[in-house]
Amino acid sequence: MESEVWGTAPRAGEAIAAELIRRRQKIDQDELEFSYLAAQFAQTDEYDWQGFDSPIAWLKANCHMSGGAASARICAGQQAEHLGQSSEAMAGGEIGFAHFALIARTSAAVGERLDQDKLLGQARKQTIARFHDSCYHARHAADPKGCAADEAQGVEARSLTFANSDDGMVYVNGMLDKVGGAAVQAALEPLAQRTGKNDDRCRERRVADALVEICTHELDHGVPSRRPHMQVTTSLETLLGLCGAPAAEMEFSLPISAKAVERLACDSSVTRILLGSDSTVIDVGRAKRTITGPQRKALKVRDRGCVWPGCDRPATWTEGHHLVHWTHNGPGNLPNLVLLCYRHHWMVHEGEWQIVRADDGRMLTVPPITPYQRLARGPD
Ligand SMILES: [Zn+2]
Ligand SMILES: [Zn+2]
Repeated sequence: MESEVWGTAPRAGEAIAAELIRRRQKIDQDELEFSYLAAQFAQTDEYDWQGFDSPIAWLKANCHMSGGAASARICAGQQAEHLGQSSEAMAGGEIGFAHFALIARTSAAVGERLDQDKLLGQARKQTIARFHDSCYHARHAADPKGCAADEAQGVEARSLTFANSDDGMVYVNGMLDKVGGAAVQAALEPLAQRTGKNDDRCRERRVADALVEICTHELDHGVPSRRPHMQVTTSLETLLGLCGAPAAEMEFSLPISAKAVERLACDSSVTRILLGSDSTVIDVGRAKRTITGPQRKALKVRDRGCVWPGCDRPATWTEGHHLVHWTHNGPGNLPNLVLLCYRHHWMVHEGEWQIVRADDGRMLTVPPITPYQRLARGPD
């Protein structure tokens, strides 16, 4: 009895699934017919009569389409007469219109060198994203020069802008060609990995951090090296974190906090112009603050990488940190220095974490005291 119920009861989802497939095939068929019409329309000068620059512009405005979608339809319609096999496959539900449009694009690019059989075989098996790549391979095989020319055009179209908002945040907006984009992503990717299991930064934040980190460590023939290149103007009061001290000034930025200056000054590789009380340019404590080349080497051998518990960032991506800051008379010798990665160095200074060396040599970290904890401690 029971088995009969399980065996025969129609599943609600099953019917919906079949209906979805049926409707999508119908939409795909409509898309193809739309494409025939769009190609025919493009042959006329009706768009011109109606005051548009091109058939694509007309489709964008009147059929509420993106430029890419409009040009894909016109191309599909124009190529359809050579693509009988593909439109049959689509009518039979073997491929979708998205596959068809990609085959049409390839056909337009390579003309008679199109191997429709082979492409169609791939389209039947592949997702749209994968088939996109297959079409590119086919195009490259038939027209390597055209592919190279497209890529060169992509390089010409590279752009990157920085816009400052009123509160000092910087909007980054840009476009890269695929090779350039891949190079940037490949460079950022290793630095965008989580630093230990307690790293709860979201992916976007980690990529942004990686960009800042990589720019902070200017690459020198593939080897990250910290070179003085940021110019900070500050007063001694600010550097000492005294109450009432003004903010510091940094090239290309709105004024920055004393905490940020403290961190930048900690590794000692920032070009600083310190203004004395009489506004003359002085540079204090150079000997004290400088981590010398041999010291840096010794640090790398001893710490091997970021010393934050659980962090595995290697030494090349670290900065020197004074456990007792040199502005507070911390010595510039090895026992007072450790290597920290960009993020953990930031957490120690701006993030107000503490890192201390225990008697047995292990590094211990102490989270910042929250306002709640401060309150709970009471006036003891
Ligand atoms: Zn530091
Ligand atoms: Zn670290």
